[in-house]
Amino acid sequence: MEIRYKSTRDDRECVTASQAILQGLAGNGGLFVPTAIPKLDIDVETLAGMSYQETAYAVMSRFLTDFTEQELKDCIRQAYDSKFDTDEIVPLVEADGAYYLELFHGATIAFKDMALSILPYLMTTAARKNRIKNDIVILTATSGDTGKAALAGFADVPGTKIIVFYPKHGVSPIQEKQMVTQKGANTFVVGIHGNFDQAQTGVKQIFSDRAFAEEMAKAGFQFSSANSINIGRLVPQIVYYVYAYARLYARGAIQKDEPINVVVPTGNFGNILAAYYAKHMGLPIAKLICASNENKVLYDFFATGIYDRNREFVLTSSPSMDILISSNLERLIYHIAGDDTAKNAALMRQLTEEGRYAITEEMRQRLSGFYGNYTGEQETAEVIRSLYEDTGYIIDTHTAVAAGVYRKYRRETGDENTKTIIASTASPFKFTRSVMNAIDGAYDSRTDFELVDELSRIGKVKVPNAIEEIRDARVLHDVVCEVDEMQSVVKGFFGIG
Ligand SMILES: *Cc1c(COP(=O)(O)O)cnc(C)c1O
Repeated sequence: MEIRYKSTRDDRECVTASQAILQGLAGNGGLFVPTAIPKLDIDVETLAGMSYQETAYAVMSRFLTDFTEQELKDCIRQAYDSKFDTDEIVPLVEADGAYYLELFHGATIAFKDMALSILPYLMTTAARKNRIKNDIVILTATSGDTGKAALAGFADVPGTKIIVFYPKHGVSPIQEKQMVTQKGANTFVVGIHGNFDQAQTGVKQIFSDRAFAEEMAKAGFQFSSANSINIGRLVPQIVYYVYAYARLYARGAIQKDEPINVVVPTGNFGNILAAYYAKHMGLPIAKLICASNENKVLYDFFATGIYDRNREFVLTSSPSMDILISSNLERLIYHIAGDDTAKNAALMRQLTEEGRYAITEEMRQRLSGFYGNYTGEQETAEVIRSLYEDTGYIIDTHTAVAAGVYRKYRRETGDENTKTIIASTASPFKFTRSVMNAIDGAYDSRTDFELVDELSRIGKVKVPNAIEEIRDARVLHDVVCEVDEMQSVVKGFFGIG
């Protein structure tokens, strides 16, 4: 079955998978969604015998139907290789009655590597297929992890350039150092005086500026996106849910077709949307548990049916989830509106104009597969400390937000028996200071890299390569700008205007 991609805001816009990946964002600020969600139609016994790469092909080939078998297999082989520090690619670790799906074994030690390791290959293949002559300029807003993962993925990839905007005062010290030390002649990193939402809105504005796009085209460039608004990010993320389910079956932890829960620490709603797509492909998922930090706009949305971003933006110890405009929620809204572009577009217009919208009762009923809750700052620290004290296992702050919500879910619903996967989205080494302070406040006086070594010692985990690399690395990027200067900074990089 051929799957095409249509805009969430305009029925007339419908393209192939490779075109959707190249374009990133649909017209009118819409996002591309598949015209149908393909069925998985492979039984779990077969899946249980597959490697990560084979599972990736089984899932992705059903969505990216205009890629040839050879093209897709080449992309997968080059993406999921020794950049990952384990052959399993995503190990599943059992601790305290849950299964932690470690999505952080790639080059930059956050789950963004799962998709951004393959996106550059998908993008360059898509450019070849569509006979694109321009260089592709990847414009990315990051709350901390996408930036580095995209930089690492696209650095020195011929025919591409990558520009990353990050909130200068909204990322962890390790995250910032990872980005500003990035090598590669085609990489640009810019701090903004603003938060992630402002970075993301600024990038979307640049995308929708037709005149600017024409100027860029004359100079031989065209924009695309490495944010999770790109369907080329979402599809690779479906893979690990399927793979994890098959691993649980292979271990004898679940019976054939036994439903499981999935808990996802959520920001831009990309990761959990991938789990939603996995469920709609036929993977037996009982509850999709959406975990927020104190920026709990999604928790409120699931509780009331009202999305309201008019609130204070809180800087937390889980900065990659400090987001009030969860872009990918638009794809869910479109689906629960009955794949209705007009209804969705009207709600998104309200979000832009008033900062809020309410969904109908009928739409709310279609959210029954979700459970939402949030974990406060103190609880997050408490979860890290108690899990460490009880089991010796150390998780990062984002994963701890998810584990905290899972505790609440169990208490509130009494559902103790459904096997549950918690998406573990970052290595604790990426948020060392917050993690170590949670374990013992006395650590606060130490330097970042002293804490790295101490974390390695008490957690009995080797310091990841991604951290060793930046210990003594030189800062190569120091551009900082105001939010309203983002476009002129981009122009400056290309000598335009
Ligand atoms: C990006 C990120 C998240 C949030 O994922 P979304 O797909 O944006 O919901 C959670 N944890 C970490 C560590 C991240 O980098």
